[in-house]
Amino acid sequence: MPTPKPKRQMARGSCTLCGKEFSKNKIAAHLDQCWTELTAKEKHDGRALAPTRFFRLLIEGREEPKYWLHLDVRADATLEDLDDFLRRFWLECCGHLSAFTISETRYRWEPPGGFDGDDFFDSLDDGFGMPREVRMDITLAETLSPGLHFEYEYDFGDTTELKLQVLSEHEEPTRRKNLLVLARNEPLVSPCLECGQPADWIGTYGDSYETRTICDACTEKKGFGDAQLLPLVNSPRTGVCAYTGVLED
Ligand SMILES: [Zn+2]
Ligand SMILES: [Zn+2]
Ligand SMILES: [Zn+2]
Repeated sequence: MPTPKPKRQMARGSCTLCGKEFSKNKIAAHLDQCWTELTAKEKHDGRALAPTRFFRLLIEGREEPKYWLHLDVRADATLEDLDDFLRRFWLECCGHLSAFTISETRYRWEPPGGFDGDDFFDSLDDGFGMPREVRMDITLAETLSPGLHFEYEYDFGDTTELKLQVLSEHEEPTRRKNLLVLARNEPLVSPCLECGQPADWIGTYGDSYETRTICDACTEKKGFGDAQLLPLVNSPRTGVCAYTGVLED
């Protein structure tokens, strides 16, 4: 008898509109339907609003696509707005540099106060065979279109890379804000490498400098301090640099 294939763990996630859970490959279709129902209700409420254009994005970890996110973003939002959201929601640890790469152009984040010298970006514009580098203060309407795949990097040292895809665009009368998270993966459970129970932390400990997962009880037993440990959080940056989780406003 053939041995049954091991069940592949499909990263499940939930719809933030209705709260129901779906597998990663089913949720895009569900969101279309759930959204249609929701906006039909809004229309029924009789609100007279100007139509607004939105892009629907699928964003996932390049190395770890088990971390994923569906997002509606207004077309008049800028790449800077999207960068700001990604930092708060998934990535920010110490104000590292970041960049979107869309087609042949790199859109780089500029730290508050700017880089030394206004010519920084201009000097990079016509590098030999290098992608053109410009600022992020450009709207999504000017840079994105349905079907487009693009990339994002946070931190050019311990880089967290994301893959982004424009699933669709839609227009509707709404008062909604710039960005709306429609769905995301459920928190992933990693076993503690000491005892097998669900881990709470990820850190560098033991004889090697390998990154390992560990639970609360085992950190106490072993006397590990906070300095060696980072909380295990629902983000593709978990355990990297000084990342501890979502930034509150
Ligand atoms: Zn739903
Ligand atoms: Zn950092
Ligand atoms: Zn343990």
